[in-house]
Amino acid sequence: MEELEVRETTCKTLLHRLDYGGSSEYTANFYKGCLHGCVYCYVPSLIHEDRRWGRFVDVKVNAPEVLDSELRRTKKGPVFLSSATDPYQQVEGRYRITRRCLRSLRAQGFPTIILTRSPLVLRDLDILRQFDWVRVGFSISSVPDRLYEPRVSPLERRIESLRRLGDAGIRTWVSLAPLIPKLMMVELPDLLGRLRRAGVSAVSPGLIRFQGYPESKQMFENSLGISSEGLAEGGDDIIADARKLIDGLGFQSTADFFDWRRETGLEGYMNPIT
Ligand code: SF4
Repeated sequence: MEELEVRETTCKTLLHRLDYGGSSEYTANFYKGCLHGCVYCYVPSLIHEDRRWGRFVDVKVNAPEVLDSELRRTKKGPVFLSSATDPYQQVEGRYRITRRCLRSLRAQGFPTIILTRSPLVLRDLDILRQFDWVRVGFSISSVPDRLYEPRVSPLERRIESLRRLGDAGIRTWVSLAPLIPKLMMVELPDLLGRLRRAGVSAVSPGLIRFQGYPESKQMFENSLGISSEGLAEGGDDIIADARKLIDGLGFQSTADFFDWRRETGLEGYMNPIT
């Protein structure tokens, strides 16, 4: 069996600007690589790395100090954790980098948005509770199965984690992505109903996209031994169905849910989900 490679590295910068149309936010990636190893992940197409995706992670061991210093020089705005890795993948249990960075984000008053697939985020409830504005999300694809997401926690545990976050007073959301129309292992009405009952406030559906992500397409096909052609057919209908269910179940709109300015009094506006 192929070994998982964990390497300690250092970084010079962390905070990067992400622009979504007229709005913007920051992102920070404390790790390079992700041991969750989802076969549909788009990140390999962004970082062009020779090592096999899902089998390596570089730990930026000085990230807490670098981030703390950068935040002191940065205009306040929401920070998204993370755009190219999972901030709560397995190694975070040992390194506690995300935890230490959260402390800085909270202490310096930065609104923070987390997206993960790991219940490890519950470890940091003590810090999350102290934020003026924080949103915690879980990703749920249409294929929540070891074949497609080798080292991701089961769907049940993710829903239970969302419930526990909500019970602790943390506002939660779900990135319902990627949805692969020809590979639907979840029943949307059932899943969305369970998310609603777990106290999730907002859901953002998204389709699988391989166009413009050639490395990801190749990884998907090689991992599964199938062609990805035609898998996204019917996507518009799936998204329309999902949106109808989301509205019908009374979830909050993502624009409202992520409107940090209204609650913080800081300037600017941002909606990370387009
Ligand atoms: S958890 Fe996210 S970053 Fe990690 S492999 Fe899966 S899709 Fe990629």
